[in-house]
Amino acid sequence: MSDIIHLLPDSVANQIAAGEVVQRPASVVKELVENAIDAQATEITISIVDAGRTSIQISDNGIGMSETDARMAFERHATSKISDASDIFKIRSMGFRGEALASIAAVSQTELKTRQENSELGTKIVIVGSKVESQEPEACPKGTTFTVKNLFFNTPARRKFLKANQTEFNYILAEIYQTALSHPEIVFTIMKDGVLYAKYPKGNQKQRIVSIFGKQMEKGLLPISDESSIAKIYGYVGVPEMAKKTGANEFFFVNNRFFRQKSFLASVLRAYGNLLPQKEYPPFFIFIDIDPSEIDVNIHPTKTEIKFSEEFNICQLLEASIKCTLGKNNIVPSLDFSDSADYSDMFSFKNADPIKAPTIKYNPDYNPFKKDEAAYPNAQTNVRNWEKLFEDFQTSKQAKNQDFALPSKMNEIKFEEAKDDVSVSFCTQFQKKYILAYADEKIYVIDIKRAHYRLLYDEFSTSLKEKKTPSQQTLLPVKIDVTADQSETLKEILPQLKELGFDIEQFGQNSFVVNGAPTDICMSDVQTIITEFVAKYEDSHDIKCSVQETVARTLAKSASLFRNPEMTSEEMKRFVSKLLANKSFTITPEGQIITVIVEPEDLLKKFN
Ligand code: ADP
Ligand code: MG
Repeated sequence: MSDIIHLLPDSVANQIAAGEVVQRPASVVKELVENAIDAQATEITISIVDAGRTSIQISDNGIGMSETDARMAFERHATSKISDASDIFKIRSMGFRGEALASIAAVSQTELKTRQENSELGTKIVIVGSKVESQEPEACPKGTTFTVKNLFFNTPARRKFLKANQTEFNYILAEIYQTALSHPEIVFTIMKDGVLYAKYPKGNQKQRIVSIFGKQMEKGLLPISDESSIAKIYGYVGVPEMAKKTGANEFFFVNNRFFRQKSFLASVLRAYGNLLPQKEYPPFFIFIDIDPSEIDVNIHPTKTEIKFSEEFNICQLLEASIKCTLGKNNIVPSLDFSDSADYSDMFSFKNADPIKAPTIKYNPDYNPFKKDEAAYPNAQTNVRNWEKLFEDFQTSKQAKNQDFALPSKMNEIKFEEAKDDVSVSFCTQFQKKYILAYADEKIYVIDIKRAHYRLLYDEFSTSLKEKKTPSQQTLLPVKIDVTADQSETLKEILPQLKELGFDIEQFGQNSFVVNGAPTDICMSDVQTIITEFVAKYEDSHDIKCSVQETVARTLAKSASLFRNPEMTSEEMKRFVSKLLANKSFTITPEGQIITVIVEPEDLLKKFN
């Protein structure tokens, strides 16, 4: 039998390798921007056409390439960044595999123009599907410009696999955020379909965060900064009120390289402890500087997972550092975290040693936002005392004489109005989260938070539905800053918001001004309502069917934030009878179970 094994031509091998490196337009952006950073650029311009399907162009003012290097750069395993295997453990550059350009050129029509400072003329190379079409001298500015056209033109299956333009563009933005956040000293300009989309000027870490995520972020950021013999940790974490259920801005960087790691996230969440509502995540921008030999960046081709040899100790340092910041800012009135806190002995722990959690004293009435309540109306999420919450509401409700106040004042269920047709003879609370009730000769097990959500939701949606022409109050204009992608979303839904009684207009690229709102919306809350609404809108796909539905859900959700309330027996009875009088007392609008009913027969069978 004749031999059947042969080597694949480079173009085919590259195309196969490209599958790993280039998954979508965002991967191209990531690789090219990282190359520009490694080339010491101080300005990077990213132009995206058609979410990267038609063209992706990255220009930098970095060191450029010689004529020979320009050609070499497209070879597989061609890199200037490492020379032998041991270098992998000393990596300070973003790239090192020498695969990116070969992969990108295999699945697109790529043009490179590059010039080094000392050369008079630069070089232009055109490569189509790994094949060099031309290479010639070219007059061009110092630095490098890659233009990647018609990505996946020769792999139609992969092109078909791409998602909607907005989704692909969001992936691109996510990649840009990661690199722009870790390089605030570099100016980034983003063009979308020929129009300036965003420009991040040179600045410090915090200024960069704010120029990406909007001014609103600024007020809620707390700095962290710690150093041990192993690592230096610095950056910013959000106050608990900035926590979100989904789409939180969570960024870890090690030596300025973005990474994800469950153990690190767990440490952050542990530091916040029960300051966060269930399943909500705070924004954070955490940078770890460490000797490169202490990490292994070589585990994943797209390089977002990183192995740390001292993972456990760094996680401990991280947790302590965040607790310290929250403590210093009185968010957890707490341990004696003085400026000189010393964690040096932390590293005598062995992995097996139990770590004693510091005991934290918590002042439930402390409101870190007293001075600026309007900006954080949900600050009262931290109030743990059920009755107090209720009393506050009653007072503010009487003062305003409103039936329908939103959302910080709406932590209320009208107990006194509960129908009495269900008589609840016994109630007790267990595991704090649930009520066990006996009524109508059945046993009910009720998830308190979900029940609260259901009751509020029904109340809000009725109010919204029944209002045919929403009446409007004019206001002193309230300015709202949003992120670039939220701005896109908000622009799209302005007409629907108008139908609901909001008068909002765009004011600058990522800012909006609210001039009017429905009468039953509390003005100090408008900013939160709109911001949360936009965030939820982005996360929800079916919302286009009914904005009203989403408004009702969003508002009810933010209102049912409080956790583990301790209720008296009378309160529980009123709460349960109000719930059982509701047609939909068993499931939430999303279909989660609120109530489990135990029929006596089923229970009695157990005694047979
Ligand atoms: P890697 O970044 O892993 O080295 P790439 O395929 O991304 O591999 O790039 C190959 C080489 O091309 C780099 O090592 C670098 O020398 C050169 N190069 C790529 N992009 C640029 C750029 N924007 N400016 C200067 N040199 C570049
Ligand atoms: Mg690279």
